[in-house]
Amino acid sequence: MIDAFELTKDYGTVVAVRDVTFHVGRGEVVGFLGLNGAGKTTTLRMLAGSLGPTSGRVVIAGHDLEREPLRARGCLGYLPEAAPLYPEMRVREYLEFRARVKSIRGSKVRAAAREAAERARVVDVMETLIGHLSKGYRQRVGLAEALLGRPPLLILDEPTAGLDPNQIHEVRELIRDLGADHTLLLSTHILPEVEATCDRALVIHRGRLVAQGTLEELRSQRTGSGAELHVRGDAQRARALLGELPFVRSVNLGAPREAAAPSAPTTELVELEVRFDAPPTEPETTAAATSGADVDGQIEDCVRALVNAGFGVRRAGPRRAALDEVFRSLTLPAAPDGERDATGGSAS
Ligand code: ATP
Repeated sequence: MIDAFELTKDYGTVVAVRDVTFHVGRGEVVGFLGLNGAGKTTTLRMLAGSLGPTSGRVVIAGHDLEREPLRARGCLGYLPEAAPLYPEMRVREYLEFRARVKSIRGSKVRAAAREAAERARVVDVMETLIGHLSKGYRQRVGLAEALLGRPPLLILDEPTAGLDPNQIHEVRELIRDLGADHTLLLSTHILPEVEATCDRALVIHRGRLVAQGTLEELRSQRTGSGAELHVRGDAQRARALLGELPFVRSVNLGAPREAAAPSAPTTELVELEVRFDAPPTEPETTAAATSGADVDGQIEDCVRALVNAGFGVRRAGPRRAALDEVFRSLTLPAAPDGERDATGGSAS
């Protein structure tokens, strides 16, 4: 549904976006994640056709945005970061006005406005002045505008920015609802937003795409390798034993999974988080080098050492990091230009 090829935007002294390439498939709900100033808005504006790229190409639903702008733009609804609403207009007037701007004509105007308002849950304020609406409602009016004409693709720039927690909840619910029958690309710098609404994420940092994949893929690509073990026995002894393995960098004790009887402390079931040393760095192979067979072998070595020393091992598997840890590893500390690059897919 979206194909971006080597998109670059140069604002003169600032290269806001450079060589960004990605694909969003039909029906996907994709988060476009980055810190403030990373280049999200610039990229989304180029996708929506409201900003021309310095170089690169955008294809929306098979239509090249430069060669077939009307067809391409007709397939998408765009909610800008600051939706240009007119405070002195009533919601119905505004939606009908925007429907006409989108080339909806005659008797279809009223029906289109009504349908979009129903989808965005603003029917109850149709006769209210936009200036009198709460910020949450105004955001939903912006969403209704994006929905006019039933575009199959929605591009939403920070749709929950500036909303209070209840409004955030409502807008996220609405996004999930819209995701059932639309392709969605939404930008955010808030990780829970991605976890709450998206199947997949693209991570942009300092204008470059630095990672993309499902949330699971991102976790496993960038967490640094390690193991999660549930071990029955003396926790401190297990920790010391694992710490002696040459590839183990650290061992953290989690909360006991089952309390031990005071008379038999060695029957306690504990959770251990083991972090492995990074393998020797080979340029461009970070993701592959920290996953797969090597890690499986290291986990096997941990289990063998524990079992040989008389520990019970209830569970052993790769460490799953929180998504915010992944995000930090991708965006902090700021890497010099060109040092970090895409870690997956077709990003460059
Ligand atoms: P935020 O979350 O803060 O909106 P963002 O990820 O959307 O950030 P952009 O707004 O795309 O980032 O900005 C990317 C970079 O380009 C920033 O360094 C910004 O200062 C710069 N920038 C954006 N618009 C312009 C402009 N019109 N002229 C010059 N520089 C700009």
